[in-house]
Amino acid sequence: METLKELFEETLKDVYFAEKTIVKSLPKMAKKAKSPELKRAFEEHTEQTKGQVERLDEIFKLIGKRASGKKCPALMGLVEETEELMGEVKDPQVLNAGLIGCAQAVEHYEIARYGTLRAWAEQLEMPKAVKLLEATLAEEKTTDEKLTKLALGRINRAADEDTKAPAAKRATAKPATAKPAAPKTKSTSPAKGKVKAASSGPATRSAKTPARKK
Ligand code: FE
Ligand code: FE
Ligand code: FE
Repeated sequence: METLKELFEETLKDVYFAEKTIVKSLPKMAKKAKSPELKRAFEEHTEQTKGQVERLDEIFKLIGKRASGKKCPALMGLVEETEELMGEVKDPQVLNAGLIGCAQAVEHYEIARYGTLRAWAEQLEMPKAVKLLEATLAEEKTTDEKLTKLALGRINRAADEDTKAPAAKRATAKPATAKPAAPKTKSTSPAKGKVKAASSGPATRSAKTPARKK
């Protein structure tokens, strides 16, 4: 690889592989999600992702190359982490929080890649490619923000309440529908700290995101 154009092509293949993989992994996450809104968010983004693959097809056409993917170890690692989580976490509320965290890791990878590709396309004077890459970049950012809102709106809190509930109570609680019987104590028990650390993605971003509207 000697030129920026070649680097652009290689990275295009990287995201092509990533998007194709995401089209398969998002439905699995939707199936596992225990919150209807989260399920819907994953389903909607699956459809969006199919459109993103088509945009990449167009860009390959623009550069006169056959659309093809190149294995992206980074994304495969993120998918592996997601699968691990889905196999390990039994508590439905905690699983929801974990799924958001995994999904956001993927969105951030995509945001990084598309941001770079857009900049390179600009440098290479490919205005059509810039437009296509920008459209996808905007969708990834919106998805990331939507997930942050879902996490901060209820899902992280629900996961935390569940963790704090006495074991006996938890065993009899209805898993998916159990509403957090929220005793609004501002305790900073170790349990709370633990869950917060697990969802530090959305929580950190809250500083920049305006307070959720209720
Ligand atoms: Fe994508
Ligand atoms: Fe990659
Ligand atoms: Fe995405």
